[in-house]
Amino acid sequence: MSDTLLSRFLRYVQLDTQADDTSTTFPSTPGQLVLLEMLKKELTELGAADVRMTKHGYVMASIPDTARREGVPTIAFLAHVDTAPDCSGKGVKPIVHRAYDGKTIRFPDNPRLVLDPATSPELLEAKGKDIVTASGTTLLGADDKAGVAVVMTLVEQLLKNKKLKHGLVRVCFTPDEEIGRGVDKLDLRELSAQAAYTLDGGAPGEICWETFSADAAEVTIDGVTTHPMEARAKGMVNAAHLAGKLLASLPREHCAPETTEGREGFIHPTRVEGKVEQATVKLILRDFEMTGLAAKRRIIEGLCRGLQAAEPRARVRCKIRKQYRNMAYWLRDDMRPVELAREAIAAAGLKPFDHVIRGGTDGSRLTEMGLPTPNLFCGEHNAHGPLEWVAVQDMELAVTTCVKLAGLWEMKRELEAGSRKQKPPQRQLPFLGLKQPGPDRV
Ligand SMILES: [Zn+2]
Repeated sequence: MSDTLLSRFLRYVQLDTQADDTSTTFPSTPGQLVLLEMLKKELTELGAADVRMTKHGYVMASIPDTARREGVPTIAFLAHVDTAPDCSGKGVKPIVHRAYDGKTIRFPDNPRLVLDPATSPELLEAKGKDIVTASGTTLLGADDKAGVAVVMTLVEQLLKNKKLKHGLVRVCFTPDEEIGRGVDKLDLRELSAQAAYTLDGGAPGEICWETFSADAAEVTIDGVTTHPMEARAKGMVNAAHLAGKLLASLPREHCAPETTEGREGFIHPTRVEGKVEQATVKLILRDFEMTGLAAKRRIIEGLCRGLQAAEPRARVRCKIRKQYRNMAYWLRDDMRPVELAREAIAAAGLKPFDHVIRGGTDGSRLTEMGLPTPNLFCGEHNAHGPLEWVAVQDMELAVTTCVKLAGLWEMKRELEAGSRKQKPPQRQLPFLGLKQPGPDRV
C-alpha cells in the first residue's frame, strides 16, 4: 500500500493550491481546481461510482454498498485540497527521509531551518518510519493532502477488496477550508451522507469531536480630523489613538491565545488599521462554551461603550457576527460517530485519544448543519509552516482506520437490527436526530 499512498501524496503536494482569503472567487484560487480535476480523474480511473465535480469545484464519488442488509447508514469521508495562506505552497519539493533516525533534520533550501525532536517531540514517535518534509522555503501541504491521499487510498482499498462489507460510502474533496469557506457551497443533499469524517488531524489515534465556538468582532472608530496645527482649537479626535486604547484595555494577561491553553477561550485582535479619521480593529472571540463566548462578547461591547463614553466626539461601533459552533453540542446527543471511530482506531491497533481543537474544522459547520462530522488523524504535524512533516506509516494507519470504520458502521447496524425497532432507512437529513441549534439560544 505504501508506495501508492506515498506517490499520491507526493504528486498532490507539488501542486500549488494555496487558498487566498482576499479572493472573491470560489474556489479562491485556480490551483485548487487543478488538483480537484486530477482527483476527479483518479477516482474515475479507480472505478469509483457517481464521480462528479460540482459547479463550485467539490469533487464527490461513491463506493457502492456491499452490505448484507438494507438500511446501513451512508457515511462520507472528506479532505480539503487547499493549503494555508500563512506560508507559501508554491514549488513544494517534498523530501522523503526513509527510516527516520530520530536526529535533527536540516533543509537544503534554508540552512538556518532545523526540525528538532527537542521542539517537535512527536518526531520521536516517528523514529524508524518514513517521513516526508518540504525543502525549507515552503510548507509541505500535509494539511490536508495527507487527508486527500488517505481518502483516495481508502477508495482504492474498498473497491479492490469486495469482501469488505460496508454501506454506501461517499467521498468528497473540498476547497478553501483554510479560509473558513470550505463548506459554503456544499450541498448536503448532494453529499447525501448520514455521518461524515474529515481526515485532517494529527498523531495516530487522534479523534477530534470538540472544537471552539467562534464569533468575529469588528470595531469601527470614527475620529475627527483637522490640520495638526489647529488640532487643539478645532478638536481633533485621533481614531488611531482610540484603537490603541481599545487594544490596551483587552484582558490580554488571561484571555489571549498566547496566554491561554486547554479549554480556556480568548479574545484575539487579528487586524488593526487606522488613521486620524477612522480606525478599525478586527478581533476573533473563541470559547468552548456558549456562556463563555457570550461573556467575551460582553467584554468587547463593554470596552466599546467605555471608549465611546470617554470620548463622546468619536463614534464607536461594534459589530459581532457568528462564525462557527462547537460540534460537541450536537455530537453529545448521539455519540455513535465518535464511538465507532474510537472502535475503528482500536481495531487498527492504535490507542484512541480525544483531542480538543482550539480552532474549528469544516466539521464544526457540517455538524451544525445536520451532518455529524468528527475529525480523524492522518498524521499531520507542524502545519502551516516550513517545518511541516508527515509519516507515511501514519497515513497508512489512517487508511486502515477508515476501512475498519466503514465496516463497523455496517456491522453495528446488523447488531442493532435484532434489538432495536428497525426504522426505515433515512436518506433525509438530519439522520441522527440531531437537535437543531440550541447553542445560540444560550
Ligand atoms: Zn486542515
